[in-house]
Amino acid sequence: MLKSYKYRINPTDKQKEQLERTFGCARYVFNYYLDRKDKLYKEEQKTLSKIDCNNHLNRELKEQYKWLKEVDKFALTNSIFNLHTAYNNFFRNVKQGKANVGFPNFKSKHSNHCSYTTNYTNNNIEVGFAENKIKLPKLKWIKAKVHRSFNGVIKSATISKNASGRYYVSILVDTEIEYLPQVDKNIGIDLGISDFLIDSDGNKILNPKNLYNYERKLSRMQRKLSKKQPGSKNRRKMRIKVARLHEKISDTRNDFLHKLSSQIINENQVIISEDLNVRGMVRNKNLAKAISDVSWSEFTRQLEYKAKWYGRTYTKIDRFFPSSQLCSICGYKNTEVKKLSIREWTCHNCGNHHDRDINASRNILQEGLRRIS
Ligand SMILES: [Zn+2]
Repeated sequence: MLKSYKYRINPTDKQKEQLERTFGCARYVFNYYLDRKDKLYKEEQKTLSKIDCNNHLNRELKEQYKWLKEVDKFALTNSIFNLHTAYNNFFRNVKQGKANVGFPNFKSKHSNHCSYTTNYTNNNIEVGFAENKIKLPKLKWIKAKVHRSFNGVIKSATISKNASGRYYVSILVDTEIEYLPQVDKNIGIDLGISDFLIDSDGNKILNPKNLYNYERKLSRMQRKLSKKQPGSKNRRKMRIKVARLHEKISDTRNDFLHKLSSQIINENQVIISEDLNVRGMVRNKNLAKAISDVSWSEFTRQLEYKAKWYGRTYTKIDRFFPSSQLCSICGYKNTEVKKLSIREWTCHNCGNHHDRDINASRNILQEGLRRIS
């Protein structure tokens, strides 16, 4: 099973120079072959495979531009491979009638996010767990914050620089699956806005408190940024401040989501949630809703892969299942509960009193278990 481990690195100035050079060359190669493929197709209706491009890179382009030889060769080859993946995604989406992935774009020099990927061969990538350092091709050892260890075979490493100028390495590792011991407990979960998660055991989990404050602070800062003069020193300073806050928000959110998804996977054998139509919801302008949307899709993604890692079962049930309207005790359907304002209700049939969301998560659990068996 492939797992990735991301670490922050602190390169020296010299290492930074080499990183920037590699980002630049990887971007150059990507743009060069995007342009070449495009022209060749338009003028002669010919296509270039990734192998064609890579051979051309090694035999001709590197001879023409010797500076391409100064950087990690895998970074350039992977750049070509990424270009082809972008092409394939585009054509697959066209075939399937989806419009959400566009034609590959040229990579801009002025983009705030840069990255390249390198492959493992002959110990060219190593992690010093005790020494807090990581070895990468053409860079040697870089100081790092190695907060997690792993067992397995390193496949590749992706080096990136984010908008506030911090560097990270994400190491892809082939590891053995470590199944957790089986447990008897199963759980149904409902995802909400005021409560992030409501489960069939009756627990309600709030969103982290500081998240909403950070979001408000962010929109204030973004307004300020837009008033600063383009190209000015103040604008650049403000842009970095905004980027740092963005990172703080995503760190806070990810930390919360990871802890919660791990806990749920640890404690339960079968986990059921609703399949949320996230794409439809992201269009919503409401701030609190927008935050939740991002978290929900990331959270269900985590449940999905962690269930695979640890040998649990995770299933989604379609959103047309009326989880809120059914009585989880007797199955009676109360269509009045369609109204979102009804937070509690009493079943006309069996007389049980329900909390709207807890009842929904119990129905999600029952329906999920029924479909599995
Ligand atoms: Zn009932």
